[in-house]
Amino acid sequence: MSGTSPYLIPPEDLGTLFPDEPSFRADQLREWLYRSPVLTADEMTNLPSSLRETIGDALWPFEVEVDQSADNGRTRKWLFRSPDGAAIEAVLMGYRKRTTICISSQVGCAMGCTFCATGQFGFDRHLEAGEIVAQVAYANAFLRRFPIAGSPDHVTNVVYMGMGEPLANYDRVRESLRRLIDVSGLSARSVTVSTVGVVPGIQRLADEPWPVYLAVSLHGADDETRSRLVPLNDRYPLETVIEAAKGYFDSKGRRLSIEWTLIAGANDSDDQARKLAVIARRLRAHVNVIALNPTPLSADRPSDGDRIHSFLETLISNGANATLRETRGQEIDAACGQLRLRSATE
Ligand code: SAH
Ligand code: SF4
Repeated sequence: MSGTSPYLIPPEDLGTLFPDEPSFRADQLREWLYRSPVLTADEMTNLPSSLRETIGDALWPFEVEVDQSADNGRTRKWLFRSPDGAAIEAVLMGYRKRTTICISSQVGCAMGCTFCATGQFGFDRHLEAGEIVAQVAYANAFLRRFPIAGSPDHVTNVVYMGMGEPLANYDRVRESLRRLIDVSGLSARSVTVSTVGVVPGIQRLADEPWPVYLAVSLHGADDETRSRLVPLNDRYPLETVIEAAKGYFDSKGRRLSIEWTLIAGANDSDDQARKLAVIARRLRAHVNVIALNPTPLSADRPSDGDRIHSFLETLISNGANATLRETRGQEIDAACGQLRLRSATE
Protein backbone atom coordinates (compact mmCIF):
# COMPACT_ATOMS: atom_id res chain seq x y z
CA MET A 1 0.00 0.00 0.00
CA SER A 2 1.34 3.39 -0.89
CA GLY A 3 1.85 6.46 1.27
CA THR A 4 1.24 10.12 0.58
CA SER A 5 2.47 11.48 -2.74
CA PRO A 6 5.24 14.04 -2.15
CA TYR A 7 3.36 16.33 -4.57
CA LEU A 8 0.67 16.62 -1.87
CA ILE A 9 3.22 18.02 0.59
CA PRO A 10 4.16 21.71 0.25
CA PRO A 11 7.61 21.87 -1.36
CA GLU A 12 9.02 23.66 1.70
CA ASP A 13 7.86 20.84 4.01
CA LEU A 14 9.30 17.84 2.15
CA GLY A 15 11.71 17.25 5.02
CA THR A 16 8.81 15.76 6.99
CA LEU A 17 9.01 12.74 4.67
CA PHE A 18 12.50 11.87 5.95
CA PRO A 19 12.72 13.32 9.49
CA ASP A 20 16.01 11.57 10.28
CA GLU A 21 17.88 12.75 7.20
CA PRO A 22 19.92 15.92 6.67
CA SER A 23 17.93 18.74 5.06
CA PHE A 24 19.77 18.57 1.75
CA ARG A 25 17.87 15.34 1.04
CA ALA A 26 14.61 17.27 0.99
CA ASP A 27 16.26 19.81 -1.33
CA GLN A 28 17.28 17.01 -3.66
CA LEU A 29 13.78 15.59 -3.67
CA ARG A 30 12.33 19.05 -4.38
CA GLU A 31 14.62 19.34 -7.40
CA TRP A 32 13.36 16.02 -8.74
CA LEU A 33 9.72 16.89 -8.18
CA TYR A 34 9.74 20.44 -9.47
CA ARG A 35 12.82 20.99 -11.61
CA SER A 36 13.47 17.71 -13.41
CA PRO A 37 10.59 15.34 -12.82
CA VAL A 38 10.97 11.61 -13.45
CA LEU A 39 8.30 8.94 -13.85
CA THR A 40 9.49 6.74 -10.98
CA ALA A 41 11.25 7.29 -7.66
CA ASP A 42 13.88 4.77 -8.83
CA GLU A 43 15.19 7.37 -11.25
CA MET A 44 16.05 9.82 -8.45
CA THR A 45 19.63 8.68 -8.70
CA ASN A 46 21.21 10.87 -6.03
CA LEU A 47 18.80 9.72 -3.31
CA PRO A 48 19.83 6.66 -1.29
CA SER A 49 17.75 3.61 -2.16
CA SER A 50 16.10 3.60 1.27
CA LEU A 51 14.64 7.05 0.59
CA ARG A 52 13.57 6.08 -2.90
CA GLU A 53 11.77 3.16 -1.32
CA THR A 54 10.06 5.47 1.16
CA ILE A 55 8.48 7.23 -1.80
CA GLY A 56 7.97 3.95 -3.60
CA ASP A 57 4.94 3.81 -5.85
CA ALA A 58 3.35 6.83 -4.15
CA LEU A 59 5.33 9.32 -6.26
CA TRP A 60 2.23 10.47 -8.17
CA PRO A 61 -1.02 11.46 -6.46
CA PHE A 62 -2.92 9.54 -9.17
CA GLU A 63 -2.70 6.57 -11.50
CA VAL A 64 -2.68 6.88 -15.25
CA GLU A 65 -5.95 5.27 -16.28
CA VAL A 66 -6.00 6.30 -19.94
CA ASP A 67 -3.09 7.43 -22.09
CA GLN A 68 -4.04 8.24 -25.67
CA SER A 69 -2.26 9.92 -28.52
CA ALA A 70 -3.51 11.62 -31.68
CA ASP A 71 -2.33 13.97 -34.43
CA ASN A 72 0.65 11.69 -35.18
CA GLY A 73 1.79 11.73 -31.58
CA ARG A 74 1.69 15.51 -31.28
CA THR A 75 -1.34 15.40 -28.97
CA ARG A 76 -1.48 13.27 -25.88
CA LYS A 77 -4.38 12.95 -23.51
CA TRP A 78 -4.30 11.51 -20.02
CA LEU A 79 -7.07 10.53 -17.69
CA PHE A 80 -5.55 10.34 -14.23
CA ARG A 81 -7.44 8.65 -11.40
CA SER A 82 -6.81 9.66 -7.80
CA PRO A 83 -7.18 7.13 -4.95
CA ASP A 84 -10.62 8.54 -4.05
CA GLY A 85 -11.82 7.84 -7.59
CA ALA A 86 -11.61 11.41 -8.89
CA ALA A 87 -10.94 11.74 -12.62
CA ILE A 88 -8.39 14.35 -13.68
CA GLU A 89 -7.83 15.12 -17.35
CA ALA A 90 -4.84 16.75 -18.99
CA VAL A 91 -3.94 17.23 -22.65
CA LEU A 92 -0.39 17.76 -23.92
CA MET A 93 0.10 19.41 -27.31
CA GLY A 94 3.37 19.70 -29.20
CA TYR A 95 3.92 22.60 -31.57
CA ARG A 96 7.08 23.75 -33.34
CA LYS A 97 8.21 26.17 -30.64
CA ARG A 98 5.93 25.26 -27.76
CA THR A 99 4.91 22.23 -25.79
CA THR A 100 1.66 23.16 -24.08
CA ILE A 101 -0.24 21.33 -21.39
CA CYS A 102 -3.90 21.96 -20.69
CA ILE A 103 -4.56 21.13 -17.05
CA SER A 104 -7.61 20.65 -14.84
CA SER A 105 -8.26 22.63 -11.68
CA GLN A 106 -11.36 20.84 -10.38
CA VAL A 107 -13.03 17.47 -10.72
CA GLY A 108 -16.12 18.48 -12.66
CA CYS A 109 -17.40 22.04 -12.54
CA ALA A 110 -20.30 23.75 -10.83
CA MET A 111 -20.74 26.47 -13.46
CA GLY A 112 -23.06 24.47 -15.67
CA CYS A 113 -22.27 26.00 -19.07
CA THR A 114 -24.75 24.28 -21.34
CA PHE A 115 -22.36 23.18 -24.09
CA CYS A 116 -19.54 21.88 -21.87
CA ALA A 117 -19.09 18.21 -21.04
CA THR A 118 -17.50 19.05 -17.70
CA GLY A 119 -20.36 21.37 -16.80
CA GLN A 120 -22.94 18.74 -17.73
CA PHE A 121 -21.32 16.39 -15.26
CA GLY A 122 -21.65 18.71 -12.28
CA PHE A 123 -19.13 19.38 -9.54
CA ASP A 124 -17.28 16.67 -7.70
CA ARG A 125 -14.46 18.35 -5.74
CA HIS A 126 -11.62 20.84 -5.93
CA LEU A 127 -8.17 19.65 -6.93
CA GLU A 128 -5.38 20.19 -4.42
CA ALA A 129 -2.49 22.43 -5.47
CA GLY A 130 -0.29 19.32 -5.63
CA GLU A 131 -2.73 17.54 -7.92
CA ILE A 132 -2.71 20.53 -10.26
CA VAL A 133 1.06 20.83 -10.32
CA ALA A 134 1.55 17.06 -10.66
CA GLN A 135 -0.21 17.14 -14.05
CA VAL A 136 2.53 19.45 -15.34
CA ALA A 137 5.28 17.44 -13.63
CA TYR A 138 3.93 14.18 -15.04
CA ALA A 139 3.99 15.67 -18.55
CA ASN A 140 7.61 16.74 -18.04
CA ALA A 141 8.57 13.31 -16.72
CA PHE A 142 6.82 11.70 -19.66
CA LEU A 143 8.49 14.01 -22.19
CA ARG A 144 11.89 13.21 -20.75
CA ARG A 145 11.34 9.62 -21.75
CA PHE A 146 9.08 10.12 -24.79
CA PRO A 147 9.74 13.52 -26.35
CA ILE A 148 7.44 14.81 -29.09
CA ALA A 149 9.48 14.98 -32.30
CA GLY A 150 9.91 18.56 -33.49
CA SER A 151 8.65 20.16 -30.25
CA PRO A 152 10.44 21.39 -27.11
CA ASP A 153 11.35 18.44 -24.88
CA HIS A 154 9.71 19.95 -21.80
CA VAL A 155 6.51 21.82 -21.02
CA THR A 156 6.94 25.42 -22.15
CA ASN A 157 3.34 26.59 -21.65
CA VAL A 158 0.63 25.79 -19.15
CA VAL A 159 -3.03 26.62 -19.74
CA TYR A 160 -5.71 26.22 -17.07
CA MET A 161 -8.32 25.21 -19.62
CA GLY A 162 -9.05 21.64 -18.62
CA MET A 163 -11.82 20.55 -16.32
CA GLY A 164 -13.09 23.04 -13.80
CA GLU A 165 -13.23 26.74 -13.14
CA PRO A 166 -9.82 27.76 -11.77
CA LEU A 167 -11.04 30.95 -10.10
CA ALA A 168 -13.72 29.01 -8.21
CA ASN A 169 -10.84 27.09 -6.57
CA TYR A 170 -8.85 30.22 -5.92
CA ASP A 171 -6.51 29.40 -3.04
CA ARG A 172 -5.37 26.04 -4.42
CA VAL A 173 -4.94 27.43 -7.90
CA ARG A 174 -2.96 30.31 -6.44
CA GLU A 175 -0.69 27.86 -4.63
CA SER A 176 -0.27 25.86 -7.86
CA LEU A 177 0.82 29.05 -9.64
CA ARG A 178 3.31 29.77 -6.86
CA ARG A 179 4.79 26.30 -7.17
CA LEU A 180 4.93 26.37 -10.97
CA ILE A 181 6.45 29.84 -11.18
CA ASP A 182 8.46 30.34 -7.98
CA VAL A 183 9.48 26.73 -7.30
CA SER A 184 9.65 25.12 -10.78
CA GLY A 185 10.96 28.24 -12.48
CA LEU A 186 8.31 28.46 -15.20
CA SER A 187 7.88 31.99 -16.50
CA ALA A 188 4.58 33.63 -15.58
CA ARG A 189 4.40 34.63 -19.25
CA SER A 190 4.05 30.98 -20.17
CA VAL A 191 0.94 30.50 -18.07
CA THR A 192 -2.67 31.25 -19.01
CA VAL A 193 -5.57 31.08 -16.59
CA SER A 194 -8.95 30.74 -18.29
CA THR A 195 -12.10 31.81 -16.48
CA VAL A 196 -15.77 31.88 -17.29
CA GLY A 197 -15.97 35.20 -15.45
CA VAL A 198 -15.67 34.78 -11.69
CA VAL A 199 -15.30 38.50 -11.06
CA PRO A 200 -13.85 38.44 -7.50
CA GLY A 201 -11.30 35.84 -8.65
CA ILE A 202 -10.18 38.03 -11.55
CA GLN A 203 -9.77 40.93 -9.13
CA ARG A 204 -7.72 38.84 -6.71
CA LEU A 205 -5.54 37.47 -9.50
CA ALA A 206 -4.81 41.03 -10.58
CA ASP A 207 -3.26 41.62 -7.13
CA GLU A 208 -0.96 38.57 -7.25
CA PRO A 209 2.72 39.02 -8.04
CA TRP A 210 2.64 36.91 -11.23
CA PRO A 211 1.79 38.45 -14.61
CA VAL A 212 0.06 35.38 -16.01
CA TYR A 213 -2.13 35.66 -19.07
CA LEU A 214 -5.86 35.80 -18.51
CA ALA A 215 -8.40 34.28 -20.91
CA VAL A 216 -12.04 35.14 -20.40
CA SER A 217 -14.67 32.80 -21.83
CA LEU A 218 -17.44 35.11 -23.03
CA HIS A 219 -19.57 33.13 -25.54
CA GLY A 220 -22.18 35.88 -25.60
CA ALA A 221 -21.84 39.60 -26.35
CA ASP A 222 -25.01 40.68 -24.54
CA ASP A 223 -26.52 39.47 -21.27
CA GLU A 224 -29.42 37.68 -22.91
CA THR A 225 -27.25 35.60 -25.23
CA ARG A 226 -24.61 34.96 -22.61
CA SER A 227 -26.97 33.97 -19.80
CA ARG A 228 -28.49 31.26 -21.99
CA LEU A 229 -25.08 29.58 -22.36
CA VAL A 230 -23.29 30.62 -19.16
CA PRO A 231 -25.53 30.54 -16.07
CA LEU A 232 -22.88 32.41 -14.05
CA ASN A 233 -23.75 35.47 -16.13
CA ASP A 234 -26.81 35.98 -13.93
CA ARG A 235 -24.48 36.45 -10.97
CA TYR A 236 -21.72 38.36 -12.75
CA PRO A 237 -23.26 40.08 -15.78
CA LEU A 238 -21.22 40.75 -18.89
CA GLU A 239 -20.36 44.35 -18.03
CA THR A 240 -18.91 43.37 -14.63
CA VAL A 241 -16.77 40.70 -16.31
CA ILE A 242 -15.53 43.19 -18.90
CA GLU A 243 -14.67 45.71 -16.17
CA ALA A 244 -12.80 43.09 -14.12
CA ALA A 245 -10.87 41.97 -17.22
CA LYS A 246 -10.02 45.59 -17.95
CA GLY A 247 -8.76 45.96 -14.38
CA TYR A 248 -6.57 42.90 -14.90
CA PHE A 249 -5.15 44.33 -18.11
CA ASP A 250 -4.46 47.69 -16.45
CA SER A 251 -2.69 46.01 -13.55
CA LYS A 252 -0.60 43.47 -15.49
CA GLY A 253 -0.25 44.90 -18.97
CA ARG A 254 -0.78 41.42 -20.36
CA ARG A 255 -2.85 41.09 -23.49
CA LEU A 256 -6.19 39.51 -22.68
CA SER A 257 -7.79 36.68 -24.62
CA ILE A 258 -11.48 36.23 -25.15
CA GLU A 259 -12.60 32.64 -25.70
CA TRP A 260 -15.68 32.15 -27.83
CA THR A 261 -17.11 28.71 -28.52
CA LEU A 262 -19.26 28.99 -31.66
CA ILE A 263 -22.58 27.18 -31.38
CA ALA A 264 -24.98 27.01 -34.29
CA GLY A 265 -27.93 29.34 -33.85
CA ALA A 266 -26.90 30.32 -30.31
CA ASN A 267 -24.03 32.82 -30.63
CA ASP A 268 -22.80 32.68 -34.22
CA SER A 269 -24.68 35.60 -35.82
CA ASP A 270 -22.97 38.56 -37.44
CA ASP A 271 -24.78 40.73 -34.90
CA GLN A 272 -22.99 38.90 -32.06
CA ALA A 273 -19.71 39.25 -33.96
CA ARG A 274 -20.20 43.02 -34.25
CA LYS A 275 -20.99 43.36 -30.54
CA LEU A 276 -18.05 41.15 -29.66
CA ALA A 277 -15.75 43.29 -31.78
CA VAL A 278 -16.74 46.33 -29.72
CA ILE A 279 -15.85 44.48 -26.50
CA ALA A 280 -12.58 43.14 -27.93
CA ARG A 281 -11.50 46.60 -29.07
CA ARG A 282 -12.36 48.09 -25.73
CA LEU A 283 -10.24 45.46 -23.95
CA ARG A 284 -7.58 45.35 -26.66
CA ALA A 285 -8.08 41.61 -26.43
CA HIS A 286 -7.43 38.80 -28.88
CA VAL A 287 -10.48 36.68 -29.68
CA ASN A 288 -10.00 32.92 -29.95
CA VAL A 289 -12.93 31.45 -31.82
CA ILE A 290 -13.40 27.74 -31.20
CA ALA A 291 -15.82 25.53 -33.08
CA LEU A 292 -18.03 23.64 -30.64
CA ASN A 293 -16.95 20.11 -29.93
CA PRO A 294 -20.36 18.42 -29.63
CA THR A 295 -21.06 16.59 -26.38
CA PRO A 296 -23.38 13.60 -25.99
CA LEU A 297 -25.62 15.26 -23.39
CA SER A 298 -26.48 18.31 -25.47
CA ALA A 299 -28.20 18.89 -28.81
CA ASP A 300 -25.92 21.88 -29.53
CA ARG A 301 -24.09 21.67 -32.83
CA PRO A 302 -21.05 23.51 -34.17
CA SER A 303 -21.63 26.23 -36.74
CA ASP A 304 -20.94 25.19 -40.33
CA GLY A 305 -17.82 26.34 -42.15
CA ASP A 306 -19.50 29.25 -43.95
CA ARG A 307 -20.95 30.63 -40.71
CA ILE A 308 -17.61 30.31 -38.90
CA HIS A 309 -15.96 32.15 -41.78
CA SER A 310 -18.56 34.92 -41.81
CA PHE A 311 -18.37 35.32 -38.01
CA LEU A 312 -14.60 35.70 -38.17
CA GLU A 313 -14.75 38.08 -41.13
CA THR A 314 -17.29 40.27 -39.33
CA LEU A 315 -15.12 40.34 -36.21
CA ILE A 316 -12.03 41.30 -38.16
CA SER A 317 -13.72 43.86 -40.40
CA ASN A 318 -15.07 45.50 -37.24
CA GLY A 319 -11.54 45.96 -35.94
CA ALA A 320 -11.13 42.96 -33.63
CA ASN A 321 -8.06 40.81 -33.45
CA ALA A 322 -9.32 37.27 -33.94
CA THR A 323 -8.27 33.80 -35.01
CA LEU A 324 -9.93 30.43 -35.31
CA ARG A 325 -8.30 28.14 -32.81
CA GLU A 326 -6.87 24.92 -34.16
CA THR A 327 -8.70 21.97 -32.65
CA ARG A 328 -6.53 19.15 -31.52
CA GLY A 329 -7.13 15.52 -30.75
CA GLN A 330 -10.72 15.32 -31.89
CA GLU A 331 -10.54 11.60 -32.43
CA ILE A 332 -9.59 11.12 -28.76
CA ASP A 333 -12.24 13.44 -27.33
CA ALA A 334 -9.57 15.90 -26.31
CA ALA A 335 -12.10 18.59 -25.47
CA CYS A 336 -11.68 18.48 -21.76
CA GLY A 337 -14.34 16.59 -19.86
CA GLN A 338 -15.17 14.30 -22.72
CA LEU A 339 -12.84 11.43 -21.98
CA ARG A 340 -14.18 11.21 -18.47
CA LEU A 341 -17.72 11.35 -19.81
CA ARG A 342 -17.00 8.43 -22.09
CA SER A 343 -15.37 6.35 -19.37
CA ALA A 344 -18.41 6.96 -17.16
CA THR A 345 -21.07 6.17 -19.75
CA GLU A 346 -19.60 3.10 -21.44
N1 SAH B 1 -13.73 27.01 -16.69
C1 SAH B 1 -12.80 27.73 -17.48
C2 SAH B 1 -11.67 26.89 -18.02
C3 SAH B 1 -12.03 25.52 -18.50
S1 SAH B 1 -13.06 25.44 -19.94
C4 SAH B 1 -13.52 28.45 -18.61
O1 SAH B 1 -14.68 28.16 -18.87
O2 SAH B 1 -12.89 29.31 -19.22
C5 SAH B 1 -11.88 25.93 -21.18
C6 SAH B 1 -12.50 26.38 -22.49
O3 SAH B 1 -13.11 25.27 -23.17
C7 SAH B 1 -13.59 27.43 -22.30
O4 SAH B 1 -13.33 28.55 -23.12
C8 SAH B 1 -14.83 26.69 -22.74
O5 SAH B 1 -15.75 27.56 -23.29
C9 SAH B 1 -14.31 25.71 -23.76
N2 SAH B 1 -15.22 24.60 -24.00
C10 SAH B 1 -15.93 23.91 -23.09
N3 SAH B 1 -16.68 22.96 -23.67
C11 SAH B 1 -16.44 23.05 -25.00
C12 SAH B 1 -16.91 22.33 -26.13
N4 SAH B 1 -17.79 21.34 -26.00
N5 SAH B 1 -16.44 22.68 -27.34
C13 SAH B 1 -15.55 23.68 -27.47
N6 SAH B 1 -15.06 24.40 -26.46
C14 SAH B 1 -15.50 24.09 -25.21
FE1 SF4 C 1 -17.00 24.98 -16.10
FE2 SF4 C 1 -15.53 26.20 -18.01
FE3 SF4 C 1 -17.09 24.07 -18.59
FE4 SF4 C 1 -18.24 26.40 -18.00
S1 SF4 C 1 -16.91 25.95 -19.77
S2 SF4 C 1 -18.86 24.40 -17.19
S3 SF4 C 1 -16.83 27.18 -16.45
S4 SF4 C 1 -15.30 24.09 -17.26
